[in-house]
Amino acid sequence: MATDAPPSTAAETPASGQAEQQPPLLSAVDPSASSSTTTSPPPLAPIRTERHPSSSSTASSFDSTCVTSPLTPGGAPGAPFRSPGAAGFGATGGGAAGVGGSGATSHDLSEELLAAGWRKFWSKRENRPYYFNKLTNQSLWEPPTAALPGVKRTLSDPAAAVPNHHHHHHQQGPSAPKRPSFGGPQALAWNFSVHSNCVTLERPPRRLFQPHPETELLRAQLIAKLRQHYSELCVSRENIQPPPDSFNRWLIERYLSDKGSDPLFPSDCDNELSYALFREIINDLPVRLCRPKLSADAKKQLYRYAEASKAMIESRVANPESRKIVKWNVEQTYQFLRQAKMPTYEDCLERLAHLKRTCQPHIEEAAKESVEKICTKLYHLSVEYAKKVRELQETLFKVTNPTDPWADLPPWSGDPKRRVRCYPVQICSPAPRPAAQQQLVETGCTDRMQFVRYGRDNSSQQGICRSVFAKLQQLYTLHCTEEDPSMEKFFPRLWCMLTRYQAFLGQQSQNTQAALPIPVFEAISRLFGVTFELFASPLNCYFKQYCSAFPDTDCYFGSRGPVLEFYPLEGSFEANPPFSEELMVAMVNHMENLLKEATGPLSFMVFLPDWRDPPTEALVRLEASPYNRRQTCVLPFEHSYRNGMQHCLERDEDLYVKSAHGTLIVFLQNDAGFMKWTPTSEKIKDLLIAFGQQSSHRRPQPQ
Ligand code: SAH
Repeated sequence: MATDAPPSTAAETPASGQAEQQPPLLSAVDPSASSSTTTSPPPLAPIRTERHPSSSSTASSFDSTCVTSPLTPGGAPGAPFRSPGAAGFGATGGGAAGVGGSGATSHDLSEELLAAGWRKFWSKRENRPYYFNKLTNQSLWEPPTAALPGVKRTLSDPAAAVPNHHHHHHQQGPSAPKRPSFGGPQALAWNFSVHSNCVTLERPPRRLFQPHPETELLRAQLIAKLRQHYSELCVSRENIQPPPDSFNRWLIERYLSDKGSDPLFPSDCDNELSYALFREIINDLPVRLCRPKLSADAKKQLYRYAEASKAMIESRVANPESRKIVKWNVEQTYQFLRQAKMPTYEDCLERLAHLKRTCQPHIEEAAKESVEKICTKLYHLSVEYAKKVRELQETLFKVTNPTDPWADLPPWSGDPKRRVRCYPVQICSPAPRPAAQQQLVETGCTDRMQFVRYGRDNSSQQGICRSVFAKLQQLYTLHCTEEDPSMEKFFPRLWCMLTRYQAFLGQQSQNTQAALPIPVFEAISRLFGVTFELFASPLNCYFKQYCSAFPDTDCYFGSRGPVLEFYPLEGSFEANPPFSEELMVAMVNHMENLLKEATGPLSFMVFLPDWRDPPTEALVRLEASPYNRRQTCVLPFEHSYRNGMQHCLERDEDLYVKSAHGTLIVFLQNDAGFMKWTPTSEKIKDLLIAFGQQSSHRRPQPQ
């Protein structure tokens, strides 16, 4: 562990060891302002405090009319699956009512403390009162002495008054009161009382533009256009619908090599042709095959495949030999279908596999050029759209030097060798034009949903479940109270973040966002000291410290930035990557490098689809890794994932989705990590129970 003395800006941990002080917020780095980018990151040793490096002294120079001056703080798939503990917790009715089962006796707290979120409760276990802050999840045995700095008013939505008070072994201090429920499983979907055990090096603020509703709106409109264009290209050129989620996987894959400045549009990639996308489209030609349920379906698919192959090879430029082979095989298939009056399911599948094997290389050859054109056209449009967004950004942010908008900002005064507890991404950006529009974000709500919209245009409206809204308020309060004490930037930032994810996900994509069940998070935290998700979003994170794809919009909600740009030296992590092969492989490389460089115990619990037909490269690499200490597998249809759209579901019933694939769990650990968080058979058994399964060690452990 590092032994840096805590800087003077660091928050002291209260005697109870329980409190989590408000982390810092934005501090201004407007070149015209007197402040600097100076930031002292959270000290390592004694803290349980989440704190942005920006010190409170710089926060005062932040110009609230100018939303973005300066330096901001940083930034998979399956049936109902309830937390074993969930059943016992009834709704408290929201609002300022009591927390958990103990009655609230908040009347003897001052107005100021009440407004700051404090309430008094009775601990049955300890038989004495304790104090809980519903806005920050902080709890104390002793009465709080003053309101937390920056929390000037209670949050306006009653949903915000319902904390996720899920106490945990990580907590010390007051006994764990019962968890309140928001009235549905969503209420239990996070636990911000788990403090980070992740150590990193101090990092300079990122040179990013802060999110701005006008650029976000333009970006969202253009990405919808790009998606539509892609879909039309697939239909007009190949006569197929785009493979499900392929656009999103394209974004994820492009992101790995993109050096452009837009967070969403790929615009500067090494190779303009994405082989990942090319493969996905080619694989769906001439028609998309899916595993048939009955022999009649199998027969139909066989026929459709034969028809489409013939049509394709006849209509494209193909060499005569290819044509001959495809036509001959199609003819053979017709004969089979005519002769075998009632072919069995297996017969049909075998035929189909044979036909695909023999025809596919020729189909591919015939379609290659056209599919490549789809991929490159998509990329070129993306470059063009990135440019449009950039132009707007430069206008809004008063950029005088477009080649280096950050030229005028003061240099960073941090210490890149300093070991610190991980903290959210910080942003430095040029000063934006004072934007009156920022104030135009309007809201409304129903019993279940909270709506946020920008301006008067209904199409810009974003809706999220109120429980998730309450969660985001908590995350924001935890990370931005100092910089935005009155929370006036909360709604614009929330709207930008939601709009970014909606743009990224499109209408129904969820496969890149499916999350582990809550009991599994509880188990990995308890059994393996996990405190951090390496793949997450503010919408699906369980812990308050996590990596996510969009540092600029997510940093206000605690994001530590994209996983491949995050370099932990020690700590225990969970990784449930989106299903993008390229990203998964990059993740394994990254983890192995980190394990090589680690200075303390480092552990990664990786959850991957157990795809064996053929095995994915990431899976092969993980199994063969010298850091692989243990692996286990949860069987298909015996476990579930949380719906990737969990944040805006209309019905709780849709929250969990059965997984049609097995899930492989691999522990990559260095020696110290293995010693500290050993995956013993006992613990693995507990983990599988959390997945709702007794045991499933069907594959031998690697040597
Ligand atoms: N946090 C949940 C859900 C994971 S779903 C869990 O661990 O079970 C995968 C998440 O990874 C998505 O929210 C996706 O947006 C995010 N993601 C995509 N690219 C990423 C990147 N480069 N770094 C970090 N997260 C990323």
